Amino acid sequence: MATYMEMSKEELLQEKAELEARFQEIKEKGLQLDMSRGKPSAAQLDLAMGMMDVLNSSSDLKCRAGVDCRNYGVLDGIPEAQELLADMTEVPANQIIIHGNSSLNIMFDTIARSMTHGVMGSTPWCKLDKVKFLCPVPGYDRHFLITEYFGIEMINVPMTMDGPDMDMVEKLVSEDEAIKGIWCVPKYSNPQGITYSDETVRRFARLQPAAKDFRIFWDNAYGIHHLYDDKQDNLIEILMECKKAGNPDMVYKFCSTSKVSFPGSGVAAIAASPANLEAIRRQMTIQTIGHDKLNQLRHVRYFKDIHGMVEHMKKHADIMRPKFEAVINGLESELGGLEIGTWIRPRGGYFISFDALPGCAKAIVAKAKDAGLVMTGAGATFPYGKDPQDSNIRIAPSYPTPEELAVATDIFVLSVKLVSIDKILE
Ligand code: PLP
Repeated sequence: MATYMEMSKEELLQEKAELEARFQEIKEKGLQLDMSRGKPSAAQLDLAMGMMDVLNSSSDLKCRAGVDCRNYGVLDGIPEAQELLADMTEVPANQIIIHGNSSLNIMFDTIARSMTHGVMGSTPWCKLDKVKFLCPVPGYDRHFLITEYFGIEMINVPMTMDGPDMDMVEKLVSEDEAIKGIWCVPKYSNPQGITYSDETVRRFARLQPAAKDFRIFWDNAYGIHHLYDDKQDNLIEILMECKKAGNPDMVYKFCSTSKVSFPGSGVAAIAASPANLEAIRRQMTIQTIGHDKLNQLRHVRYFKDIHGMVEHMKKHADIMRPKFEAVINGLESELGGLEIGTWIRPRGGYFISFDALPGCAKAIVAKAKDAGLVMTGAGATFPYGKDPQDSNIRIAPSYPTPEELAVATDIFVLSVKLVSIDKILE
């Protein structure tokens, strides 16, 4: 089949008329579908319902350290929860502090603390004329919203299949003292599902930033969120790499069980060097007398250890895999060879990233909405909501049922085709 670029104007108009008829047919069904939300489906949440039963009024509610989890205390989190989340994110248990229910919340606090009090004794960022962050794009909108909220200037760094463009990262951080950090989702990245290569991680660890208070914000949100048993990405561990490279304090690593147990009711943590953790504790002791230890205990009693968690994630994968494949197969069969879009087949995470012809993303999202399909807003994957190419669209296949996804993918590919034809005919 000819690509759209190769077709004559008449052929394109003919194709458009046929597609438009199909689009109208679907539109008349008055559907309400949603591929915008990166949240687990009810079936995934059901997997962890046993967690509701592990603690009851006759349970022993003391943690291993002998502390009554119903009461105040144990700022770093109960030791068994430290162990579980440390294993989950591959760091030593004494290098992690368990927080509350959200890793995003810890990231927000980390930036807020740096703004008001500086980083391990540095000048508070709010007292500087300019503070900048590097933002690999496309990326996670909520990261960008945090930095925007604090008035931090964001600089786009393009992603490659190995992670962020490291030539650019190295050059920028070594030349500009105002650059204080970079947002990273290093494994099964949001939205592309890319895992940083070993060389990328090592180059991160060896960075020589002009700013002594530069930090890598390593959001390992999808560390154990594989789709396949036999095809898994591997990410080397950044804290150890930084230590080996003589930069032990350069990274904060974040994780949570939001998409392992229950989003909003999971357990979140930060891992970092002992010096960084000490600085964090100085704020924490003012901020809280301790986080929710009963929830920590519930997670440990339910999963028992990392092996329990890994087995649990296989059940998530069984639910997620057919959904990802439904979307990818739909893209491949309907758009493959037309040269009007590219996408990546991820091996894990929560998203599929689609790049349309430049100037088409907003129109595609609007077109899909016209037929009752809600997509993540075009531009959301870029700082300030501005995709300079107007090309990237994030697809979130987790929430709809497989049947809904098949129809949603149909609407999406029809929208891509129709908008692309209009673009080519412009
Ligand atoms: N980080 C990334 C990359 C995410 O995609 C998400 C949720 O979608 C989060 C963090 C939110 O994590 P939490 O629920 O622990 O705040």
